[in-house]
Amino acid sequence: MITVSFTRSVYAHELRPGDVFAFPDAPSTPLAVAGVKKTVLSPELVLLALTLPGRTEPMHLPAQTPVRALRMVRRVSLTCLLCRRSQDVELNLPHDGEPLSFVCADHAPAPDREAE
Ligand SMILES: [Zn+2]
Repeated sequence: MITVSFTRSVYAHELRPGDVFAFPDAPSTPLAVAGVKKTVLSPELVLLALTLPGRTEPMHLPAQTPVRALRMVRRVSLTCLLCRRSQDVELNLPHDGEPLSFVCADHAPAPDREAE
């Protein structure tokens, strides 16, 4: 699989439970997301209430708040370049990068990576 490094901006509305993020001005304070509740106030203003472990009150922030993703595991469906079969792959985007192209195991000469 060929990936490109995950450098694009991430906004708060992309966060899902299980993700870990930090605010750009406090990059050394990782925050784990336990829950996300979305409140649509108007088409321009969507508020998120993030449940964070260890806090009694949810953290409220606008959906368009830029955040730094530290852990974002996503299941992506990739289509093999050679046989067009699609396969679901789980990626931790900030760590693994975003998939650019994919060739399934059928065409690999020797598997050099063990399944996790
Ligand atoms: Zn294939």
